[in-house]
This record gives sequence, C-alpha cells and structure tokens, in this order.
Amino acid sequence: MQTNLPESFIATDRGRRANEILRSCVHCGFCNATCPTYQLSGDELDGPRGRIYLIKELFEGVQTPERVTQHLDRCLTCRACETTCPSGVAYGELADIARVHIGPHRAGMAGIMRRLLQWLVPNASRLRLLARIGRYFTFLLPKPLAAQVPKSITRGLRKNTSGTKQVLLLQGCAQQVTTGGVNEVLQRVLGQLEIGVVTAPNEGCCGSLDLHLGDEAKTLKAVRNNVDALFPLLDRVDAIVSTASGCGVTVKDYGRLLADDSNYADRAAQVAAATVDVGEYLAGVSSALQPRFPGKRIAWHPPCSLQHGQKLEGVVESLLTGVGYELLPVTDAHLCCGSAGTYSVLQPQWSTQLRSNKLQALQQHQPDLIATANVGCQVHLADGTDTPVLHWIELLT
Ligand code: SF4
Ligand code: SF4
Repeated sequence: MQTNLPESFIATDRGRRANEILRSCVHCGFCNATCPTYQLSGDELDGPRGRIYLIKELFEGVQTPERVTQHLDRCLTCRACETTCPSGVAYGELADIARVHIGPHRAGMAGIMRRLLQWLVPNASRLRLLARIGRYFTFLLPKPLAAQVPKSITRGLRKNTSGTKQVLLLQGCAQQVTTGGVNEVLQRVLGQLEIGVVTAPNEGCCGSLDLHLGDEAKTLKAVRNNVDALFPLLDRVDAIVSTASGCGVTVKDYGRLLADDSNYADRAAQVAAATVDVGEYLAGVSSALQPRFPGKRIAWHPPCSLQHGQKLEGVVESLLTGVGYELLPVTDAHLCCGSAGTYSVLQPQWSTQLRSNKLQALQQHQPDLIATANVGCQVHLADGTDTPVLHWIELLT
C-alpha cells in the first residue's frame, strides 16, 4: 500500500514501524473472510482491510480521530486477520500504535467505563474487594459491568513448593481472584512431576488491559514493574509459566514493548524469552499426565491469544487427546468468543452476539464439558451456558 505519512511522524520509532506495517499490506482483502466483526456488520470499515486504511488516513491527517475510533474500538484485537494474511501484516501492532496515537480517553459513558476498568481490573486487591461487597450491589451497576463482578472469590497461591526443578508461575490479576483454582490444580499436577512452583511477590498486571485501551504510560509502567518482579527469579527457574493465554501473549511481547528503554530492554527481552504458555511447558512431560474426567466429551475453545497471538494451535489439543479425551468438532474455531479483554463491557451487543454464535458452535455435539485456556473466555462463556466451562488444566489430575 502506498503511504504518505508526515516526515515528522516517520522520524519517530512508532511512525517508522507504522509506515513499515502499512506498506506491507497489499489490500487484497483475504483477511476480511476471517474477521468476526466484519462478519457481524458486513461493513468494510469494521474489517481489517478497512481499519488499516482508516489508520493510514489517520496518520496522514486525512481522517478524523472520531471516525477511526468508532471502528477501531469495535475491533476485538483477536488477530485472526494476522493468521489469515498471506503478506504477514502485523495488524495487532499497527492497531496498538493507532490506539496510542488516538489516546485512551473517550467522551461520555464509554470514557467512564474505560477509566473504571483501568482502575479496577488490573488490581487483584480491588477486584477481590469488589467481589466481596459488590455482589450485593450489582443491581446498581450497568449490566455489562455487573457481569464482570466475580461470582466466587479464590485466593492466589499461598505457598511456594519445591521440586527437582522450579517454574515461576504468573498468577494474573483477574485469574487469581476469579479462577484461582486453575493455578492450584497446576501446582498439584507439577508437584506430582516433582516440579516446584514459585511466585513473584511483586507481580502485578501484565499490562494487556492498558495496552489495548491505548494507554501507553500505564502499559509501560505495568511492564517495568513486572520486569523488576520477575527478572531476579530467572536464574532459579526452568521457565516463567502462564496459565492465562491473554497474559502470556503480552509478557512474551515485553522485549518489543521496552526495546527503546535502555534501562530495561535487555532484562525485558530475557523475561519474554523465558515465558511459555502452560501448554508449551507440559508438552515436554505429556506422557506423565492423567485425565481427571476419563470418558468425558470435550468441546475445546482455543482463545485468540493462544491460536492467533501465540500461534500455538494444536498444542493443547494434542495434550488432551494424548491423555484420552475425545475432542468434538467445533465449527469456526478460529473466531473470537467476544470476551476480548474489556470488549464484553465496552461493546456488549457485539460481544453477546459473538458469544451466542460461539456457544452454538461449541454445543453442537452436546459436549459434557467446554474447555479453554484463558480466564476471560472462561468467565464470559460460562455466563452464557449451563454446560460447565473449565480451564483445560482442570481436566488433568
Ligand atoms: S492485511 Fe493482509 S490479508 Fe488483509 S488486505 Fe492487507 S495484505 Fe491482504
Ligand atoms: S483483530 Fe480481529 S476484529 Fe480486529 S480486524 Fe483483525 S480479525 Fe477483525
């Protein structure tokens, strides 16, 4: 694609990178075929090709931020378009640059909701408090926000364990409050393999929520905090393991996010290189794993952050079939469930429609259980069905 970005913008690292990405797009439109929002609206501007064009015009000063914002805010950042694109266009990175360019603030109720989410979700203590007292007041909250109040509360892991080797487990902020049992199951499974689990006392939010809301300052603050928390433990552990694919995909990107910070770039790159999804880690010991529910039929939902972000399609599927589970066929498995971080709160109508489509596909063959790999998808899907929705680690014993 031809571009005509201002020289002053191209002179910045962000502008140079945006220009490279824009020029790698040949405008073929193949990506529209797998874009969930294009499928919902049929509007070119709600598909990746149209958004790329809008972003180009935004940087060129031809398009108003308001018009671009409307369509960019409807993007799930699911990155299905990246998987489909034959030219390797880094759409997710381009969207992040555009969001920073526009800034995190919005007018009216959308702005209030965004600030509330930024204050609440990345902080496990606040989320835990809300879960304790907020359950009695959910009727006062807007419906999409009320749905985010955890129905039950779990603690983070309370003690480290030792073994012949150790992993550093990312506890996550939402995960340790809403589905903390997942990390407890993993600790038990690893314990049987004589692998100990340590946690970093000062671990905070991975930064993904602020990143996708376009708040660069808060994102980088969160990333630096985690590099400070995780790096000192690296020489004690075999790997940094993430059980929430939405956090893992961001931590794996720390090297890029802090590449321009000479105080952090090297340590951030080492933290990123040491980080693996739990599926990648367990693939190395798969012969020792056992099923917790032998004979159950499973519908597997691979989160976008796992299949499109981390490009780990097939890893968990092999582990689950390897321990004897039957995985049922699921139509359009590449499509997002509509959770997408804060999307279910900020774009509730489209999010609900995407969940409804996803649950229809997942339940087509009457599974006993639905399994996934990210806390956001798990909670979002569970809110729309009576079929139990578990993290796949919970299918192991
Ligand atoms: S992002 Fe890729 S698939 Fe989409 S229009 Fe550009 S080159 Fe084609
Ligand atoms: S990230 Fe997902 S929703 Fe956004 S343009 Fe790409 S495919 Fe569409």
